[in-house]
Amino acid sequence: MAAEVVILGGGVGGTIVANLVAKKSSEKAHVTVVDTTGIHVYQPGFLYVAVGQEQPSALQRPERSLLRDDVTLVIDQATKVDTVARKVLLESGRVLPYDQLLLATGSRTVMDEIPGAGDAFDFYTMSGAVRLAEALEAFEGGAIVIGVAGIPYKCPPAPVEFVFLLDDYLRSRGLREKCEIKLLSPLNRAFTIEATSKLVQPILAERGIELTGFFNVESVDPDARTVHSLEGETVAYDLLVLVPPHRGQKVIEDSALGDERGWVPVDKNTLKHTQFDHIWAVGDTTNIPISKSGSVAHYEASVAAEAIVAAVRGEAPPKHTYDGKVTCFLETGHGEATTIQFDYDHPPVSPTPARRWHWAKALFNKTYWHTVPQGRLP
Ligand SMILES: Cc1cc2nc3c(=O)[nH]c(=O)nc-3n(C[C@H](O)[C@H](O)[C@H](O)COP(=O)(O)OP(=O)(O)OC[C@H]3O[C@@H](n4cnc5c(N)ncnc54)[C@H](O)[C@@H]3O)c2cc1C
Repeated sequence: MAAEVVILGGGVGGTIVANLVAKKSSEKAHVTVVDTTGIHVYQPGFLYVAVGQEQPSALQRPERSLLRDDVTLVIDQATKVDTVARKVLLESGRVLPYDQLLLATGSRTVMDEIPGAGDAFDFYTMSGAVRLAEALEAFEGGAIVIGVAGIPYKCPPAPVEFVFLLDDYLRSRGLREKCEIKLLSPLNRAFTIEATSKLVQPILAERGIELTGFFNVESVDPDARTVHSLEGETVAYDLLVLVPPHRGQKVIEDSALGDERGWVPVDKNTLKHTQFDHIWAVGDTTNIPISKSGSVAHYEASVAAEAIVAAVRGEAPPKHTYDGKVTCFLETGHGEATTIQFDYDHPPVSPTPARRWHWAKALFNKTYWHTVPQGRLP
């Protein structure tokens, strides 16, 4: 009888693992993906929606269209994992038994953890990006403040990319002279990666984007239009954009599968749960101290898929493990971008921004649907 492989989450990581396990297990496994919405969302595009360069419809496809025919898709929300009986409980009341379970539920944003931030704008959800685009369209001048309200958050360079795209956007509307752009960073630099921060900081200064370091957003006073930091500073704004705090999904917390923020503890190389056999995790949901990014989910997926196939076949764990590889692009505005590449053993490297990296990112964004979810890219 085929082993039951259940995958929670049909995002980047879950979809690749589902397709690879179904392809490589030679019918020794039956793969089921459970996804709350059944819609696969390409989140890197939120940045472009926020500045009016992309339509939400271009960033969504039915998850069914990205899965192999032999993968079963269940559109439902996983509410609890019973690790003793090896069953997943779904919101509808349905129960799915598993032999191998992959947690790929990503992360959720929790803006309400910041007092007063309820009306702040964001580009971390589709609805947030659409609302921000509308606010920017109506904006006629003043201080736009971009702050980070908690680490870790998805795609560490995204706030820096956003301020560069915002600078371009305001210039294109002839509004730049009437606006200030202020980036508040919780660190002593633009974002987590030091080498790339050093590269982009002079460009921020050149474009008149003000960077304030050591500003951990603690609260917002929406009446006074001020944002306050843990360090005791206050900054006034006309339009506030926050990177919301992130945490793991409720199902992880309710099933005691994660830490106090819902991040799943896994071995950073094998991606196996540190406490439970038969449970694996990839992507944003893990507690690995590395970028929460699609690229990480992508590289981890082939490792988890091989491990699950070996477990299903009763074979020894594969030698191929996750080496911490990350590859991503960073838009620097004016039609240029750079890249960031590193792994556990090699520090981040970023080339001088150039047009070719911007075009490489644009090409990747367009070809994503035909390459990544199917596991066609290594
Ligand atoms: C603005 C922005 C820019 C970004 N830019 C980049 C970039 O340039 N490069 C890059 O590599 N990454 C980027 N990312 C990050 C990237 O999108 C995420 O890291 C990636 O999507 C994580 O993949 P995942 O599979 O872990 O989770 P996700 O893709 O988030 O998928 C999780 C899935 O789980 C489902 N789910 C959640 N809870 C449940 C449940 N209880 N039951 C069933 N299903 C559930 C959700 O519906 C979702 O489909 C960006 C993100 C944002 C927001």
